[in-house]
Amino acid sequence: MTQTETTTAASGGGDRADGLLAPVPDDDGAPFFAYAARGELRVQCCADCGERRFPPRPCCPHCQSFESLWKKTSGRGRIWSYVLPHPPLLPAYAAQAPYNVVLVELADAPRIRLVGNLVAAADAALNSVPPERIRIGAPVRAAFHETDDGFTVVRWLLERP
Ligand SMILES: [Zn+2]
Repeated sequence: MTQTETTTAASGGGDRADGLLAPVPDDDGAPFFAYAARGELRVQCCADCGERRFPPRPCCPHCQSFESLWKKTSGRGRIWSYVLPHPPLLPAYAAQAPYNVVLVELADAPRIRLVGNLVAAADAALNSVPPERIRIGAPVRAAFHETDDGFTVVRWLLERP
């Protein structure tokens, strides 16, 4: 499953009108995007042992159960790490460089880290937060951005901009 605009699309498709990459969810990952479209950040959870897991997959790596559900999270977390991608980049990304890619550790599921972009507002450009504003450990919260082709992706906002 791909879950952000900055991850590589799976085979075939994935190009958006604006030149950024679109998510190409598989069957396991589709609920993540369906909940995001409702403004909810949910992670897959084992229905037997309760362990949360990401990325979504059919089987629990802890107890091997195939039963799962999707648990709502607070949508809050901290920047665990980040990068500032440099060329060579795809043209649409090069136009927005320097932008960031953050790895966010979820507050209520610290073993789960999501890749995304830190932005100034849900619909702002990928380069809307200056690199010098980004700090490891900074508290962030999820925001939901609907792309031009109707997909909702999760982005991240600083709790204290
Ligand atoms: Zn389990």
